[in-house]
Amino acid sequence: MSDALEEQQFGAVTVLYGDRHGKYPHGNTLIVRGREESLAIDPSLGLVARGAQPPPVDRVLHSHCHEDHFAGSFLYPEASWLFHQADLPGIRSLDALMDLYGYPEPIRSAWAKTVVEQFHFTPRPEAAAFRGGDVFDLGGVTVEAIHAPGHTRGHCFFRIEPAGLVYLADVDLSSFGPYYGDFWSELEDFERTLAMARDLDARYYATFHHVGVIEDRMVYRERLDRFAGVIADRERRLLAYLAEPHTLEEIVKHRFVYRPQDQVSFADGVERRSMSLHIARLVRDGRVRELEPGLYRGVTA
Ligand SMILES: [Zn+2]
Repeated sequence: MSDALEEQQFGAVTVLYGDRHGKYPHGNTLIVRGREESLAIDPSLGLVARGAQPPPVDRVLHSHCHEDHFAGSFLYPEASWLFHQADLPGIRSLDALMDLYGYPEPIRSAWAKTVVEQFHFTPRPEAAAFRGGDVFDLGGVTVEAIHAPGHTRGHCFFRIEPAGLVYLADVDLSSFGPYYGDFWSELEDFERTLAMARDLDARYYATFHHVGVIEDRMVYRERLDRFAGVIADRERRLLAYLAEPHTLEEIVKHRFVYRPQDQVSFADGVERRSMSLHIARLVRDGRVRELEPGLYRGVTA
């Protein structure tokens, strides 16, 4: 059993920090307590690592259906589990979850094994759905779901009042930048979500991963702009690379999301999906031409 997680209190919200402040594969879990009900948001591997009984709650809310966000949910077999309706299929079976990622074989099979063995995937066919705008009233404390798609179709923020805390989940403000490498991801939805996030007014901005909780709106906006800027940076690098014709497979091998030295089992799948989304946009906008099926080149002005 490891040491108890570091905790921080923001009104009715307790943030339970995961290892290394929630650096992947760990994450930060929120416990929200009202007079009548309490919720856990995104039970992480950190909850599992602490070994003891987790804080008791009535319901478990998930910002989206990804391995690190439900890794500790099995600790709550009696509580009801909720997902945004667009991500709900992912928790019903391992196959459905693998469809959400959409990685090709052999990555798919290896990843399925990892999700079960390291992230404790537990199918939950009876999990319930919520929608953007739904408000959970816990008694003197409310949790509002804000649909923020792009990372996955059903990705959500949660606004918790009167604490004045917005939980941003995987809009995690990291230097890695936005992740849109799944079949369930969409680049332009993510960009709309980032524009929406810029106008969120809150006392506290909490993320799932290691950035933790930001208390200053100016700092939040700076970090968000830097995070969003990674998208434009990937696109700039892709256009520079496409000064010469290249196939999608060459683009995948070149790497625009991960660095060439990053040892990530699913990297090729993520590069393929992410950069296909950029190429589709650039072709549509007349900035890249498909010279023959699967061969692309930038259009010089
Ligand atoms: Zn995620």
